[in-house]
Parts: sequence; structure tokens; C-alpha cells
Amino acid sequence: MTPDSGTGTSASKGTIRVLQLYPREMNIYGDWGNALVLQQRLKWHGYTPELLEYNVGDEFPEGVDIILGGGGQDSGQLVIQDDLQSRASLLKGMAEDGTPMLLICGLYQLFGRFFKTRSGPVIPGIGVLDVETHGTDERLIGNVKVTTAEFGEVLGYENHSGQTTLGPGVAPLGTVAKGTGNNSSDGQEGARYRNIVASYLHGSLLPKNPAIADFLIRTAVERKYGTFTPGEPDDRYAVLAREHAARRPR
Ligand code: GLN
Repeated sequence: MTPDSGTGTSASKGTIRVLQLYPREMNIYGDWGNALVLQQRLKWHGYTPELLEYNVGDEFPEGVDIILGGGGQDSGQLVIQDDLQSRASLLKGMAEDGTPMLLICGLYQLFGRFFKTRSGPVIPGIGVLDVETHGTDERLIGNVKVTTAEFGEVLGYENHSGQTTLGPGVAPLGTVAKGTGNNSSDGQEGARYRNIVASYLHGSLLPKNPAIADFLIRTAVERKYGTFTPGEPDDRYAVLAREHAARRPR
């Protein structure tokens, strides 16, 4: 089966709605690829994917099963901040209720308490995650390898000025084996809370880390349909991407 092929002739086991938050501003270093991976893996698992987008001023769609948030420049974060605040209680409710979410870099920061940018303004977060972020003059750039208990070795690419510190209300996604991660001092990367996976890793993350994609899918399907019976995903390209990423010196 090629990465483009669908599920053949078998009937769909159901529909899963994947919502990208603010893809107009918050979608750098390939983050859009996370939506494409979920789309394809849902098909491989026998489900019908529905990809939706939410941008500033849009109506928030009903029946969302998975939320994706990407990264962006500080300027993009400033553009979305008011709209994000207007959706804070909705998103908080969904997070507490167990909606699976993948939050990368810029939206990871803004799902926390605040991001104090390098140039001055403090962008308030929505406080879903017990984390805070401070911009620094040191830009953290490069390939990252993270050791995690849940997803094995997680690979990706980071590029951020904000340094994030975790509070007691969240767990780290893992510990950094290469690169920097949340900040330049504690060796932790990302955050885990309920069914949220938050991470600094772009690249995009999911093509190289199908275990995280399948966690989001399995959780969404179990919440909606009770049980998840996996299909037969084709992991050849994920394996190649991981091999390639692992060879990068930094
Ligand atoms: N603008 C934020 C920072 O520089 C987020 C960057 C990103 O999403 N890659 O820390």
C-alpha cells in the first residue's frame, strides 16, 4: 500500500474530525504535515478523516475529535491572542474532558499561562497547561531526540526563543538526548496533561513519530466509538524519515 492509497473497498468504521487551530498564523516548519499524517493514518485504520481549520473570527466547529495546534512567530502569536482568549473556556473544557490534542511550539506556549516575548510584550495564555514561557536572546535551533516512556524515542526539529518551565500540574513528554527542548537548563522536552501531547518539535512531528499519531487516533476513536481496532498502517516512510533524522549531526 502506498502512502496515498485509501482503505480499499471496506466500509468506514466511522468519521473522525481533526481541527487545526489558526493554521494561517500558526503553521511553520512543516506543522501542516501533522494534519496530513492523521488524515492518512485514519484511512489506514479504517476511519474517514475530516480535516477542518479554525482561524481568527471563524465559527468554532461542532463535534471536533482531535485538535492540532502548530508553531508560529511571535508576531503571529500576537495576532491570534485575543481570539484565542475568546475560545479559552471552550478549549479548556475540551481539554479537561479528554479531547486528544497535539500542541506544537507556539500554541504549546499559549496553552500555558503566558509567553513573555523577548522583545517585551507578554502574551497571555489560556492556562490549559501548567507551564510558563520566557523569551530569551538565545535561539534554540536544531534536531532533537527525546527519550519518552510512552512513545519511545521521539525525533524532531526545534526553533524557538521562548524557554518553557513546567509546573507541578503537568509531566514532561520526555528527557532530551540531543538538542535542547523546553529550556536550556532542565533537560526536559514537552508536556503531557490528560490527552494532550505538547512539544517544541516541528519537522513535522507526526511523520517521524507515528506512535504519537496513533495515540491521538486511538484516544479519539475510543472516546467516540468505545473501542479502537487498528488497521494496517504502512510505516515504511516513517521508518525512512526516522533513519534520516537520526543521522543528522545536530
Ligand atoms: N515564537 C515562539 C518562539 O520563538 C514560537 C516559535 C515556534 O513556534 N517555532 O519561542
